[in-house]
Amino acid sequence: MKDKKTHVRYCWIDVNNVCNLSCPYCYTAAHKVNSNEPFIKQGLSFAHIKRLLSECQKINVESVIISGGEPSLRQDLMDILDYSANEAKLKTILVTNGTILNKDMISKFYSWNIELQVSVDAINPDIYLKCRGAPVLKKVLQNIDLLLEYEVAFALAATITTINEDHIEDIVKFALRKGIQSLHLAEVKPLNKPSRELFVPYIYPVLKKVYELQKYYYPYIGIDIIEHFVYPIILDFKRKAFCNAMEGNALEIKDNGDIHLCVGIGSPLGNTKWTRLESITDLCNSYSYKYSIDDVDKCCNCKYKYICGGGCRYTAYFFSHGDTNARHPSCVSYKNFIEDIKQDAKAGKLDSYTDYIKKIHISEIEYRKYL
Ligand code: SF4
Ligand code: SF4
Repeated sequence: MKDKKTHVRYCWIDVNNVCNLSCPYCYTAAHKVNSNEPFIKQGLSFAHIKRLLSECQKINVESVIISGGEPSLRQDLMDILDYSANEAKLKTILVTNGTILNKDMISKFYSWNIELQVSVDAINPDIYLKCRGAPVLKKVLQNIDLLLEYEVAFALAATITTINEDHIEDIVKFALRKGIQSLHLAEVKPLNKPSRELFVPYIYPVLKKVYELQKYYYPYIGIDIIEHFVYPIILDFKRKAFCNAMEGNALEIKDNGDIHLCVGIGSPLGNTKWTRLESITDLCNSYSYKYSIDDVDKCCNCKYKYICGGGCRYTAYFFSHGDTNARHPSCVSYKNFIEDIKQDAKAGKLDSYTDYIKKIHISEIEYRKYL
């Protein structure tokens, strides 16, 4: 255990806490605003964000993820991205709902090598409306076409809830049709009452359906929720924890400067107004020991622990009313799913998938893991 050394590889910066959509599960508690407002002044100042980006550069953060709220509601978003990618020379990823992009922004994303994660929780307009609270799917799809036209690297993202659980395959098929190579799927984080009610109690059928597509279309798409379980089996490595944050490899900086490993668990590690990022890397290290899969009480004797990683610790904490060592509510689904993959691997059904994945550089595999 003591040989474990973490390094903050991913830094999320929430540049605001306002949004033009109102997803019922939103865990950022973003305030709804009208995107036509000429200037929304909110969050850390540009000067403060520039300083943070320079600190990220100093501690060798590999990727900075500019998030919110909806970051594109900031009038100075392009200045932030310009500084991050071109001055601080950081690999920069913008997380957006894709509603407020335009050609000028998109052509700059391409020339500055900005990558995007665009949320689309459904391809069907009615389901999309229920998931995102506004009838803007058409606009998002137009912007996705523009991103493709300008050859900007991006991933689609969807949060799995009881609203869209039967429609996740449609998103995979849409991505395949469009040639989008990366899909980020995540179970909803129960950070508030509505999101708790939207949590899918038995996720196995969704995992199974998406897996059938992933294992067939592996040269064309990477779906992280599936790769999370498949890679430790076919590449024979041990997962140390469920997510980058629990490994001590990721930080999230809130719009008020609070620094978290996980926004749901524990108090902030500091605040960027008085804490320098270089001073908390050791702290991240000590926190990550706490959530290593070997130290999670309910998981440490599980035979699947190094494949599963124990699931999102915040979700386990929430559903157990305050125990970060509790069993994750999707535990049974995870176990069933892991057994399916193992059987496929044993039967040789994943051999060509394995050969293909082994040829991809490890950094590309890590990159696909945004959790
Ligand atoms: S399968 Fe269940 S018990 Fe095993 S590591 Fe995952 S959440 Fe924990
Ligand atoms: S424990 Fe869950 S909510 Fe917290 S950072 Fe990890 S995946 Fe996110």
